[in-house]
Amino acid sequence: MTRVHPGFTGVVQDGWPRPRGWTPPHRLDALDVSTLPGVGPTLAKRLRGFGITSVRDLLQHAPRRYESAAERVPIAKLGLSEGEVAIEGRIVNARARTLRGRRTLVTATVRDDSGGQISASFFNQPWLVEKLTPGVEVRLRGKLGRYGFDVKSYDIGEARRTADFAPVYPASEQIPSVRLRELVRGALAAHARSLADPLPAELELPLHRDALAALHFPADQREAEQARRRLALDELVALQLVVGRLRDTDAVASPLSAPGELIERYRGVLPFALTEHQEHAIAEIDADLRRNVPMQRLLQGDVGSGKTVVALYALLRAVETGRQGALMAPTETLAEQHFLTLEPLCAQLGVRCVLLTGSVGAKRIRDEIANGVAQVVVGTHALIQRDVEFLDLAVAVVDEQHRFGVEQRKALSEGRSPHVLHMTATPIPRTLALTIYGDLAVSEIAKPPADRKPIVTARVGAEKSSAAYERLRVHLDAGRQAYVVCPLIEQSETRLARAAEDEADRLRRAELKGYRVGLLHGKLKPAERREVMRAFKDRELDVLVATTVIEVGVDVPNATIMIVQEADRFGLAQLHQLRGRVGRGGEQSYCLLISRPVEELSETADARLDALVRTTDGFELAQIDLDLRREGRLLGTQQSGWSDLRFTRLRTDHALIERARELARGLADEDGPWQDDADRLERGAVTGV
Ligand code: ADP
Ligand code: MG
Repeated sequence: MTRVHPGFTGVVQDGWPRPRGWTPPHRLDALDVSTLPGVGPTLAKRLRGFGITSVRDLLQHAPRRYESAAERVPIAKLGLSEGEVAIEGRIVNARARTLRGRRTLVTATVRDDSGGQISASFFNQPWLVEKLTPGVEVRLRGKLGRYGFDVKSYDIGEARRTADFAPVYPASEQIPSVRLRELVRGALAAHARSLADPLPAELELPLHRDALAALHFPADQREAEQARRRLALDELVALQLVVGRLRDTDAVASPLSAPGELIERYRGVLPFALTEHQEHAIAEIDADLRRNVPMQRLLQGDVGSGKTVVALYALLRAVETGRQGALMAPTETLAEQHFLTLEPLCAQLGVRCVLLTGSVGAKRIRDEIANGVAQVVVGTHALIQRDVEFLDLAVAVVDEQHRFGVEQRKALSEGRSPHVLHMTATPIPRTLALTIYGDLAVSEIAKPPADRKPIVTARVGAEKSSAAYERLRVHLDAGRQAYVVCPLIEQSETRLARAAEDEADRLRRAELKGYRVGLLHGKLKPAERREVMRAFKDRELDVLVATTVIEVGVDVPNATIMIVQEADRFGLAQLHQLRGRVGRGGEQSYCLLISRPVEELSETADARLDALVRTTDGFELAQIDLDLRREGRLLGTQQSGWSDLRFTRLRTDHALIERARELARGLADEDGPWQDDADRLERGAVTGV
C-alpha cells in the first residue's frame, strides 16, 4: 500500500517548512530536538526530562489516549451548548498579548457559515498568532468561557478533523499536549520523507511514516489504532531480531515417548479433573517433548490458575522414561512450598522427590541426584551449582522465570539440553520481553478452575483499619484462615524482619488477641520457616503475619482474607501477587488494602490501588502497570529497560507478536533499517535493565 496519510500531506502543502534536505534515517537519532523550530533551551531541557532528546524520540512519543469526538456546533448556537464542543470556521483576525505572570494569550476572531462569530482564546502559545492569518480555516475544540471560546485542541489550515481525536500525551501538566503536537507537526514536516520503512511494504498496515503521522494526527480511533499496531509491529520485529542474534540453534534434546502408565496414575490421584486450559497446555507440552529440539515454553497463568499441576505433569513425563525432572524456584520459601505440594503427590505415585536448597543441600541428596535415585528434584538456584550433577535431567521447570537472570537460566541447561518449561504468574512487561527475548513458545492458562470466585478487593483508610480487622475476625471465627502483610517501610531484610516481629506481637495483644498468630519473614531459618508453613497449612495457626516472602507459591485454600498494611507502598504487580494467596479455594475471598488517606497519596499510588479494586485480571493490571510506569519514567523516577516497548499492548497483541516473529525470521540475515532498530534496542537493553 502506498497510501499517504492525508492529514499529513495537507500539512506539507499548506506552507509548513519543506524538508531542508534529506536526513538519513539513522541520523534522526542523533538529531537533537533543539534543531526543530520553536524549541529553545528551556523546552529542550524539559523534553529531555521526558526522555525526549532526539527527533526520533519525539516522533515516537506515544499519546496516552485520544480525546473522544465532540459535537460540532454552529457558532451562532454556541450559547446553548454545554461542555466541550467543536466549532469550524475561518479566522477574521488574531492578536497576541502578554498577561500577568508572563502568561501569553492569543485571541482570534472566528466566523462560520452560520453567520456566528466568536473570540477564541489560546493560552501560552504565542507562536500561533503567525498561523492564524485571516481566511485560514480552523476547527477548534473547547468550551464557552467567560471571555469567549477557550480552545483546548485545534486544527489549523487543514481539512482534517483531528481536533476531535487530539492526542493527550503523558504528563501533559508539564508540557501541554497541544504544544507537543505542534512540535511533532514540525518534525514530521521537516523529516518525514527521510523516515525509511523498516519493514517490507506488503503489510496490510500503514507505512511507518504514515503510522507516525497518524499516531499524532489520527482522523479517528480506527486510524490511531492502525498506526499503533504498525509501530508495535516495528518494535516487535526489532526485538525479535535481537532475540535471533542470541539464539542457540544447535542444542539437541532427546525426545520423550508418549505419556503412559505413570501419567495415567497421576491423573488418577489428583483430587480434581484438569481444566480445559490445563489440558490444552499439557497437549502443547507433549508436542514439544516429542521433538529433539529442547522445549522452550512459557506457561503463563494468573496466580492460582493451576500451573503447578501442569508443571508436575511435565516432570513426571521425564520420570516415566526413567529420567529426571527438576523444578527451580527463585527463593527458598517458594522451593519449600513447591516441595510441600509435590512431594506428597510423588509419594503416592512411588516417585522419589527431593528438596535441594542452599541450606538443605545435604551431600546425601546430591548423591541421590547424581545416581538417579532422586527422580524429581525441587530446589533454588543451588540446583545449577557446579557440585550438583544430575544423572539424566530430561525436563526442567523454572518457576517465576523473570526473577532469574538470563545467565542463571542458561546455566541450567549448560552442557545438557533438557526440555525447559518456564512458568510465570506475572505478565509484567519485563516478562513479556523475556518471553520474546528467550524466543519462548507460550501456553496460557487463561482461566482458573471453575469454582473460583473473583477476590473482592476494597480500600480501607488507615483510620478505619479496626473495621478491617473486625472483618478478618469474622472469617477466623468461621474456621477460615487469614494473612496480614506487613508494610514495606524498612530497606533491609533484617529490619523488615524485626518490624514484622513487632507487628505480630502487637497484633497478638490487640486486634488478634486470642487467635493463633504465626510469623513468616525472610530472616527465619529454613527449618523454622518450613515449620511455620506446615503449621499454617495444617490449621494450627489462624493468621499468618508475613512480609512479602508469601508473595509467591504459598498455597492454602482455606485462607480467605488478607489485610495488606500500608498498601500504597507496594508495587502493583506485587500487590496482585500477594492478593493471589487468597481465593485459592471455592470460598469467596477478600483482600483489604489499608492505606493513608487519598489526599496524602501520590497520583500513581492512588491509581494502583484503584486498579486492584477494579480488576483481578493480571493481564489488565500488567498493562495498567506499564502505563503508570511509563508515566513515572517520563517524570524521571523510573529507570527504563525492555519495558520500553512503547506501542505493544500486552493483552491484545499476541497475533502481532507471532507475526513479528515470522517477519524477523525472514529478515534475520538481510541488511536494512530493521537491523538498525535492532541495534538500537540491543544497546538500550544493555544499559536499560
Ligand atoms: P498457580 O501455581 O498457578 O498459582 P496452583 O497450581 O498453585 O496455581 O493452583 C492453585 C490451587 O488450585 C491449588 O490449591 C490447586 O490444588 C488448585 N487446582 C489446580 N488445578 C485445579 C483444577 N483443575 N480444579 C480444581 N482445583 C485446582
Ligand atoms: Mg504456584
